Amino acid sequence: MSEVLEFKCPNCGGALQFDSDVQELKCEFCDSELSVDAVKDYNELLNNQKEDSTEWEEEPKTQWAGDEADSLDVYLCNSCGGEIIADANTSATSCPFCGNPVILSGRLSGCFKPDYVIPFKLDKNAAKSRLFEHFKGKRLLPKVFKSQAKIDEIKGVYVPFWLFNTGVEADIRYRATRVRHWMDRNYNYTETQYYSVFRAGKVAFERVPVDGSSKMPNDLMESLEPYDFSEAVDFNTAYLAGYFADKYDIDAENSKSRANQRIKQSTEDAFRNTVIGFTSVRTEHSSIRNFNGNVKYALYPVWVLNTTWNGQKYTFAMNGQTGKFVGNLPMDKAAFWKWFGLITSAVTAGAFLLLFLIGRAGGFL
Ligand SMILES: [Zn+2]
Ligand SMILES: [Zn+2]
Repeated sequence: MSEVLEFKCPNCGGALQFDSDVQELKCEFCDSELSVDAVKDYNELLNNQKEDSTEWEEEPKTQWAGDEADSLDVYLCNSCGGEIIADANTSATSCPFCGNPVILSGRLSGCFKPDYVIPFKLDKNAAKSRLFEHFKGKRLLPKVFKSQAKIDEIKGVYVPFWLFNTGVEADIRYRATRVRHWMDRNYNYTETQYYSVFRAGKVAFERVPVDGSSKMPNDLMESLEPYDFSEAVDFNTAYLAGYFADKYDIDAENSKSRANQRIKQSTEDAFRNTVIGFTSVRTEHSSIRNFNGNVKYALYPVWVLNTTWNGQKYTFAMNGQTGKFVGNLPMDKAAFWKWFGLITSAVTAGAFLLLFLIGRAGGFL
């Protein structure tokens, strides 16, 4: 004798029936047997399932004070459209991004004041000697790369970054299996146990960086990370003396989707690492909700050198704080775009992850 309950089988969606002999719910379509508590928990999860959501403040809030920005000139490159900022005593002649001449277009206006700057730690001589070392012994490298005049063209550029801070609440539901094999004289047996695994918790992200310059490709900048933010200071125009700053052309609003993507990925990776001891794990539903998000604007130091050879542009970039570099060099026919950095950091550098997890695994046989 059995009574019908209003529950669906989590494995196949068929109607479940209560089997009073074993005191469990049974699915006559796929033969699953489930405890009543587990099914109740599972249905509760499904009913409370939330979607992704993001909540960011509109823009960074720091404004220029008085005539602070008046000492800053903006130069325009008519070849690549780059706009660079220099202080009035540092005149720019060529574009750091494409090497073509730049023209003075006027005083800085219409952009936010940086909140922070990480000052250059490696000066031009250090950058040049590292570059020289890097080129040394590479006999297949075209001469144009190795000439002293070319190496002298390396430029110190502050690259604009948006730094995203946010709390995150996440719920992720997984479908997992545990598989066991055995045999006797007549048969081979395989038993598969299905689990619905649920993880919920809060994490906090600090300073997830997104490059605000279209002139510096995102993957190139992410390869230069990490930057050590503990050495950042409040921005002051004095730090620009002798260097250039790239005027951001991707605003905070348009950088949010990349920040959301990095935050979602990092959260999902961190949660996934807690689901262990199964034969297979598949994510069934994930909800990442960030709250109280704000954005800051910072300048990060990069040494940049561009060379054009055989009609192709080659970019060398070095982290102006740590000396880490990425660059592509034409070595032979096969080797081009050789990257010296891996874009693997899922948990971003400079992002501190505080993880509090509560876990619950409802077992379904
Ligand atoms: Zn079923
Ligand atoms: Zn240019």
